[in-house]
Amino acid sequence: MSRAWLIGAGPGDVELLTIKAVRALAAADVVLIDALVNPDVLQFVRPDARVLHVGKRGGHASTPQADIIATMLTHLQARRSVARLKGGDPFVFGRGGEELLALQNVGIPVEVIHGITAGVAAPAAIGIPITHRGLSQGAIFVTGHSAGDEEPDWHALASTGLTLVIYMGMHRLATIIDALLQGGMAPDTPSAAIQSATLPSQRHVAAPLAQLPSAIADAGLKPPTIVVIGDVTSLAAVPGVSPDIAAPTPTLTLGIGCRSGVTVDQIRSAALVALGGRPLQAIRCVATIEAKAQESALKTFCVENDLPLVTFSVAEVRDCLDAQPTLARSTAVQDHLGVPGVCEPCALLAAPGGTLLVPKLMLDGVTVAIATYPSTPPAPTPL
Ligand code: SAH
Repeated sequence: MSRAWLIGAGPGDVELLTIKAVRALAAADVVLIDALVNPDVLQFVRPDARVLHVGKRGGHASTPQADIIATMLTHLQARRSVARLKGGDPFVFGRGGEELLALQNVGIPVEVIHGITAGVAAPAAIGIPITHRGLSQGAIFVTGHSAGDEEPDWHALASTGLTLVIYMGMHRLATIIDALLQGGMAPDTPSAAIQSATLPSQRHVAAPLAQLPSAIADAGLKPPTIVVIGDVTSLAAVPGVSPDIAAPTPTLTLGIGCRSGVTVDQIRSAALVALGGRPLQAIRCVATIEAKAQESALKTFCVENDLPLVTFSVAEVRDCLDAQPTLARSTAVQDHLGVPGVCEPCALLAAPGGTLLVPKLMLDGVTVAIATYPSTPPAPTPL
């Protein structure tokens, strides 16, 4: 009995193939491969297997979908097993559903082997999680390729507050961004475009939404490229990015509470742990309670890193804690300072309207928390 596999090859890096995919490739008599698939995956194909390239290559037209299905059927009816390899996941903008139905309609069982879709892999390749507590409660995968009646409702998408991940968006990006801006999305919404993610040719730019098309043009990015729009993009952290394009916008506040006599090194270590790979430049200001304003290590840490130190009164900190019952409390801090917590409320007070990104961490006499602004941070008031 002939069998068919519909296989996702992942975003590019061969090591991102699933074990199931490798096993199926090793078993197939015929392999149909899309142009987006890294040809290195063919190392797993049997030497005597037939390999058919069916995607767009070097500007030539791709094989029409009906021909691809007809070819698969021909081989399957001749009792050859067929592996159909697609980039990313076959069910995400891959027309995998059409091929599955066409084969099932003639009674051929198909095993679908999923792959890592570019919409997750490309942002992740530059350190962007497409969802992140406090920044985005979800992500929307959308094609930028369709037009006319099938055009996504960009105005509606602009107001979801969720991460937007756009596939095939390069040709119409300026039009799409215009529609998002008209739909009320802030022009400074953090955005990025990632080309050829997970391959040696991977490149990316990060820019505020309104400037993304010119940043892409300046960098000369080409398809295949994923565009990701939303606050999570501010978490992008990949070394080697050209600083003029991708210098992190400082959008974070670092709330600090500390024992008397801590050292600058202890404060720096705690800050770096809380940042978790993000650079110190992502911090816009350091915030603490007035009673700690003269702590010399804290002042030195701010001077060394060119960061304003903002302070809040006991009353402001108490109000913030009262308004947010879930914030961490400490009886020791209560006894010492008259409020049950410092770092979390201070981080939040310094980012009005923002959210807690990294909850309280206690490290070596220092407590730290990080908050992030909703979009454009208001100017902090230096001490
Ligand atoms: N089924 C695929 C998507 C096919 S649509 C998947 O799940 O990933 C083709 C689009 O995917 C491209 O235009 C591009 O937007 C995106 N894409 C695929 N591979 C990519 C890669 N390695 N880097 C960036 N974008 C990629």
